Amino acid sequence: MTWLCNRGHIASARDLAAMGVSRRAVGGAVAEGRLIRCRRGTYACAHIDTHEGIAAAVGGRIDCVSALARHENVWTGPLARELHLRVDPRFHADATAGAVLHWRVAHGESGQPLEVAPIDALLQAMTCLSRYDALAAVESAVHLGYLGETDLGRLTKLAPQRMRVILKRLDVRSQSGLETFTRLQLQDAGHRVECQVPIPGAGVLDLLVDDCVGIETDGEKWHANRFHADRTKDVLIEAWGIRVLRIGRPHIFDEWPTTLAAIERMVAESAPRLRAQLRGFS
Ligand SMILES: [Zn+2]
Ligand SMILES: [Zn+2]
Repeated sequence: MTWLCNRGHIASARDLAAMGVSRRAVGGAVAEGRLIRCRRGTYACAHIDTHEGIAAAVGGRIDCVSALARHENVWTGPLARELHLRVDPRFHADATAGAVLHWRVAHGESGQPLEVAPIDALLQAMTCLSRYDALAAVESAVHLGYLGETDLGRLTKLAPQRMRVILKRLDVRSQSGLETFTRLQLQDAGHRVECQVPIPGAGVLDLLVDDCVGIETDGEKWHANRFHADRTKDVLIEAWGIRVLRIGRPHIFDEWPTTLAAIERMVAESAPRLRAQLRGFS
């Protein structure tokens, strides 16, 4: 059934007939477990995953945070336990327990029969997620190439009203959801934050706060094997006289007041020293 895999693991009875597969052959494949009858007139390969199987049974597509979660490192906010599915409002869909159904018309062309296009997943996530989570999702999607530049323009135009203010703070240089949250929370505390600042000889600093303190954000997945490389980067940044703090998920979400206090103390100590250094250059 390779041709079925190539077309996204799913076919209608009509498609199967057009390919010359007789009803009898379909029945035989179903009986042998090589083909799954998802719903009336819809068949799939036996290896579709659980979410795809539910989407096919409902007559919908994987949507919203569930679609984002299928693309590694795209921000999904607090991991939704339920499956979010898109169903076309023009057609009948079978309700299913445990899935959240979004009845919306699509704006994008999805290459996947069982998953909505990136622009649609992100548009819906803008309704289901908090505004900060939604912005982090958009920024990580652009960084990872899940959402293209052209679609980003369309997305911001189509965005729901509640996202308008936060989208003014969009920074596509952000490289991860953790970085986005740290930037937003620092800006909310009144700090000036620059993203992805090149430091000669050291690499690119994730965030520079008030022109004087560096922040590096570590995702669990990325940094397990990077212990020494990360420390070397910190040493090289510090060698430029820029204090640098390396933080991870708990420091950003669970212990933010303490993290902010530490950063603000570093800023208070670094700013006068850097100003004095700059006076020395002039
Ligand atoms: Zn397949
Ligand atoms: Zn949703």
